[in-house]
Amino acid sequence: MRYQDLSYWLSSVDEPLTPRPGLPGDTDADVVIVGAGYTGLWTAYYLAATDPALRIVVLEKEIAGYGASGRNGGWCSALFPTSLPALARRHGRDRALAMQHAMHETVREVGRVVAAEGIDCDWRAGGTVVLARTEVQLGRARAAVAEAREHGLADADLVLLDAAEAAARCHAEGVRGGTYTPHCAAVHPAKLVRGLAAAVERRGVRVFERTPVTALRPGAAVTPAGVVRAPVVVRATEGFTPALPGQRRAVAPVYSLMVATEPLPEAAWAEIGLAERETFSDYRHVIIYGQRTADGRLAFGGRGAPYHYGSRVRPDFDREPRVFAALRRVLGELFPVLGPEVPVTHTWGGPLGVARDWAASVGLDRSTGLAWAGGYVGDGVGTSNLAGRTLADLIRGQQTDLTTLPWVNHRSPRWEPEPLRWLAVNAGLKVMSSADEAELRTNRPSRRAQAFSHLLGH
Ligand SMILES: Cc1cc2nc3c(=O)[nH]c(=O)nc-3n(C[C@H](O)[C@H](O)[C@H](O)COP(=O)(O)OP(=O)(O)OC[C@H]3O[C@@H](n4cnc5c(N)ncnc54)[C@H](O)[C@@H]3O)c2cc1C
Repeated sequence: MRYQDLSYWLSSVDEPLTPRPGLPGDTDADVVIVGAGYTGLWTAYYLAATDPALRIVVLEKEIAGYGASGRNGGWCSALFPTSLPALARRHGRDRALAMQHAMHETVREVGRVVAAEGIDCDWRAGGTVVLARTEVQLGRARAAVAEAREHGLADADLVLLDAAEAAARCHAEGVRGGTYTPHCAAVHPAKLVRGLAAAVERRGVRVFERTPVTALRPGAAVTPAGVVRAPVVVRATEGFTPALPGQRRAVAPVYSLMVATEPLPEAAWAEIGLAERETFSDYRHVIIYGQRTADGRLAFGGRGAPYHYGSRVRPDFDREPRVFAALRRVLGELFPVLGPEVPVTHTWGGPLGVARDWAASVGLDRSTGLAWAGGYVGDGVGTSNLAGRTLADLIRGQQTDLTTLPWVNHRSPRWEPEPLRWLAVNAGLKVMSSADEAELRTNRPSRRAQAFSHLLGH
């Protein structure tokens, strides 16, 4: 496998992606972290930054950024998989708002570290525009803003746009309005994760690549090359978690797929907009997401790929021609200036982790020394930074504003055994895509999608 083929992003980093050496044999450490994506690396970063004497080892089965961190849409957003109203129902309004404010701060924090560490990752804090292209979608945009106000967010956090304002940011076909939040940056995700790996190494963290962990237990991470013994063992394996012994039902790996166009001419950008490199989406049910890359492409993705029986994760699941064709079609519908043959040069995908209650969590079990973070669904670029800072506080035994946030030490239930899991996840995906079709036909909001999104914690 050529790591460059895993995504447009990994193909466009300024380095050959040569794997670092693997674990040479049995080793002792203070903290061993399994997985060199954002979660593992942010945790290592903040631990090393706050206590340079700690011996920290990161074990990665492939290379840093092999997972979703090297393949995502590059939205470093303040989105959290559980909506603000759902958090407020579970934890009260104040704690829900504290969580949202922590996410806003997280976007700024990533920007600060990127600058301080000199990580050249095309960072641009241009916010997010979510378009409404039908009356039903416009209703959802209005409801999103009303809900945000009701739960304590300001105009400066999320604002309703009329048709002209929305089109001024992103001139997609048939725009009737939308919403804008400044709390998002567009980023080159692979440059971020690779830069982060280099930054933690500069701080003395040892990163071993091509070193698969075959078992995690209190006090040890076991690999074919040797055992790393440490009082704290961090699981940062997100969508790959079900392959670890005893973790089959911890998260369901759901695939998100992407395409990238060739660099577009200035005339096309004059038509499309996105002058601030705003990340963009719309108010349909089956999530789509896009960004204008620093080199002038549209990188565009969406869900809709099937969940695979038994929570299996395999490289060939990253490629689903039907979904790539649908993404290309949607891009053409949004931006007719791309012409009938949308000029796609790259297609790829990857697994993300979904907990049974759709709740991301971060935690440390003090009795075993086992720590974890994940279940971010499609919102891990920002959230993993908050997870890393929180894990560093928990591991160092510090009580801080972060360690009291509502997601800390939350335990999601396990997924059902198969075939129930397969039936439930794929039925959910089907409901959402048929809801979009039904809304276009009837011009009315889909009740089934509303009921289902309540089930998902929205
Ligand atoms: C196509 C796509 C688009 C997305 N778009 C966005 C977006 O725009 N914004 C956003 O916020 N989120 C997005 N996400 C989600 C986001 O990318 C993830 O939430 C985030 O990258 C998770 O980081 P992580 O470090 O927890 O997991 P990963 O990046 O998946 O890293 C896990 C690492 O663990 C390693 N590993 C697994 N098992 C083992 C083992 N046994 N031993 C050793 N190492 C192991 C893997 O090789 C991998 O490198 C997207 C995801 C995908 C797939």
